[in-house]
Amino acid sequence: MTYRAQVEDIRFIFDNVADLDQLRGTEKFAEASADLTDAVLEGMGKLCEEVIYPTLRNGDLTPAVLENGVVRTSPGFKKAFEAIAEGGWVAVSAPEAQGGMGLPLSLTTAFNEMMASANMALGLCPLLTQGQCEALEHHASEEIKSLYLPKLISGEWTGTMNLTEPGAGSDVGALKTKAEPNGDGTYAITGQKIFITWGDHDFGGNVCHLVLARLPDGVAGTKGISLFMVPKYIPDADGNPGPANDLKVVSLEHKMGIHGSPTAVMQFDGAKGWLVGEPHNGMAAMFTMMNNARLGVGAQGVGVAEAAYQQALDYAKERQQFGPIVNHADVRRMLLTMKADTFAARSIVMACAIALDMASATGTADWQARAAFLTPIAKAFATDTGIDVAEQGVQVHGGMGFIEETGAAQFSRDVRITAIYEGTNGIQAMDLVGRKMMDGGEAANVLIDEIEAHAEIARCTLPELAEPVWQACESLREAVEWLVTQTDMNTRFAGSVPFTRAFARVLGGHYHLKAAMVEGGEGARSKLARFYIRRLLPEHESLLAHAMAGADDLYAFSLDELEA
Ligand SMILES: Cc1cc2nc3c(=O)[nH]c(=O)nc-3n(C[C@H](O)[C@H](O)[C@H](O)COP(=O)(O)OP(=O)(O)OC[C@H]3O[C@@H](n4cnc5c(N)ncnc54)[C@H](O)[C@@H]3O)c2cc1C
Repeated sequence: MTYRAQVEDIRFIFDNVADLDQLRGTEKFAEASADLTDAVLEGMGKLCEEVIYPTLRNGDLTPAVLENGVVRTSPGFKKAFEAIAEGGWVAVSAPEAQGGMGLPLSLTTAFNEMMASANMALGLCPLLTQGQCEALEHHASEEIKSLYLPKLISGEWTGTMNLTEPGAGSDVGALKTKAEPNGDGTYAITGQKIFITWGDHDFGGNVCHLVLARLPDGVAGTKGISLFMVPKYIPDADGNPGPANDLKVVSLEHKMGIHGSPTAVMQFDGAKGWLVGEPHNGMAAMFTMMNNARLGVGAQGVGVAEAAYQQALDYAKERQQFGPIVNHADVRRMLLTMKADTFAARSIVMACAIALDMASATGTADWQARAAFLTPIAKAFATDTGIDVAEQGVQVHGGMGFIEETGAAQFSRDVRITAIYEGTNGIQAMDLVGRKMMDGGEAANVLIDEIEAHAEIARCTLPELAEPVWQACESLREAVEWLVTQTDMNTRFAGSVPFTRAFARVLGGHYHLKAAMVEGGEGARSKLARFYIRRLLPEHESLLAHAMAGADDLYAFSLDELEA
């Protein structure tokens, strides 16, 4: 099995579906010419195909281990990470002044997707470092920025995010880690963090932990949390790593997938930390990192879906059972569902990335609202798609899918975490119907208006595709109106997951329709759009019925009845 980087499809989406070109009209991204973005995509693709992908199985078969307090990474990972760093790929969207390329986040997102296809476990290391760079850029003091950013951007050092504790998962505000002032402007950080991705490694350099902790005068809950930079080695003023800090990896988790990614239990015993942002305002800074990471995790879902599809297609062409299995209707159904949903998810993720780029380039409230609205949809739908597609990839392989040598099972195991970390998909959906619809549904309706307007235009040339998309918008609009009039938040939350998926389904229909319009309704993309709109889009109807069913049924059961 080989992996072919999805450069062509990403370029098509940039050019025709998510409209990367509008970025070039802004001062910030005026230099991101088509030639430049093409060259960047080609370079990323080559690195992922030739250097990163060959390490995929090593991570699964020879997981990262903790030996005498030191993490040893899987064979080939150090070299592959060095190649990422040497190419300047760790944080291509970071400012040029700090050593980045100043490219749009959309291109970083393309890279994150390709890295996830090639080796998701390894790709997490740069992904977290990118998020840390963005949090520091927006919230850290000039001193911290100039000390840490160039090293993180170059890949000399790597970054982690330390939120989760045994009693504080989705409810981050319950955390117990303490920060005591040392009296010299630094803080002593004490506590335990769990599930810390790439908490340590043997790549050299420094590991920079962004840690959420509570100051002595911090109130309970999220409002009393502050953010600290806590490096593994305390750097001197010139950025040379010095003495070891008072922190350690206690153990690494044994996981269902991404075995090559060291997931650490971290112990901080009065470790020296530096405040990032304002005291008690750590969640604001952490949200910058988390939002970046949410999009990145969505891209991981798409990346694994792509790789699982490619492998399943290769297998289906080779495997003979009553002729090549690729000719059987049900195998066709599976492959086309995989392909059509991957395109929908990729388009949603890229539309979200471009909205974030437009928000940062223009600073306008409209783009900020669009980006904020799309982020939970992109994270949840793309990761659910990664899971569904990888699972179907196993099914296409028949019995061989259950046998580890094919690698189909690895995709399925690896991608499963994406619906859980960075805020579970349930939490994403609650964010969508809660915070993101506190505007009375305005951001949702503006987007629905756009989709409808495009469907109106498409009606003249492709009525059989445009009409169902237009009708789906009307159903979605009714559901938005129903949701925003529910004052009991639990009524909204009860249907939040089906609503999020229904919105994604309609967005997927819109992007497939756009692709078909580019081809004038003739060609492979139009056939895929027809498949999606006829067979997958109708799911939105049952999802919306579920979304508007309220919470009463869910609470009608006593706990005893649930056990019966
Ligand atoms: C491999 C791996 C890597 C990770 N990497 C990191 C990392 O680098 N840094 C870090 O800080 N953390 C990391 N995490 C932690 C991860 O972000 C959490 O596991 C996740 O946020 C969920 O928290 P939890 O596991 O405590 O689940 P819980 O919060 O206990 O959730 C359990 C279930 O209850 C649901 N639930 C919880 N609260 C609500 C609510 N209010 N309403 C409705 N449903 C709710 C959830 O959706 C979920 O289905 C990682 C985890 C894993 C497994």
